Amino acid sequence: MSDRPTHPESHGLLPISRLMPPRRPVLVATDVDGTLTRAGKLDPAALAAIVRLVGAGVAVVPVSGRPAGEVAGLCRYLPGVARGLAENGLLEVIPDRAPRWLRTPTDKARLRRVGERLDAEHAAGLRLTGDDFCRLGDIAYEREGRDEAELVRLRGLAEAMGVHLVWSNVHVHLAEAVPDKGVAVLQLAEEIGVDPRAIVTIGDAPNDAGLFVSGRFGATVGTADIAAQLAFVPEPPQYVTRSREGAGFVEMAEAILQML
Ligand SMILES: [Mg+2]
Repeated sequence: MSDRPTHPESHGLLPISRLMPPRRPVLVATDVDGTLTRAGKLDPAALAAIVRLVGAGVAVVPVSGRPAGEVAGLCRYLPGVARGLAENGLLEVIPDRAPRWLRTPTDKARLRRVGERLDAEHAAGLRLTGDDFCRLGDIAYEREGRDEAELVRLRGLAEAMGVHLVWSNVHVHLAEAVPDKGVAVLQLAEEIGVDPRAIVTIGDAPNDAGLFVSGRFGATVGTADIAAQLAFVPEPPQYVTRSREGAGFVEMAEAILQML
């Protein structure tokens, strides 16, 4: 992936160098694909940044569109990471425990039928993700290079069938309620006694929109990739990194570590 230059000020977003949350950050809620990764693999520099954050007393919680089983594996092996949120906030995952539903369990068969109708009636050409077998509540398809115009078309068709459609850099999700990672983070924060104003969130794509909602968290951050997605999120994040993908996460981590 290239590090193409971005001009965040032209989007009204503040550069991450100006990060100034209202409380000392104690928790980072981070998207995974496109935010902790580089070209689809965990970025070693992002991994090192997680280690530094945890070492400085800042908990790191992955908040992913990936299945519960995959997030469980991620949490088991990421240093200092105890839990995660999976399937765009439907489930909380702690290794060696059964995943916990945070929202109403979905009717996967119904969602899948909507996908089949999109294929049959609207030439959507959707292909279920390879990890579908371990998704508990989410139906997701490989994005396979679809551009935003096509995704917006599919979103409108899905909504006409009573289903929500949202995408990340890798997947297209169908959901019965608007996917909202932020609601899941807020619920978790309340349960573990963390002031939401001491939470920093970061993501890269429209399925992270709930992490960007103003007034929910101390600071909201997009990687540089969010600049091209602002038309597809209800609210932009407050801050944007200069770098894309995992390098953007590293920038955010360094900004937090400097203020501790
Ligand atoms: Mg992402």
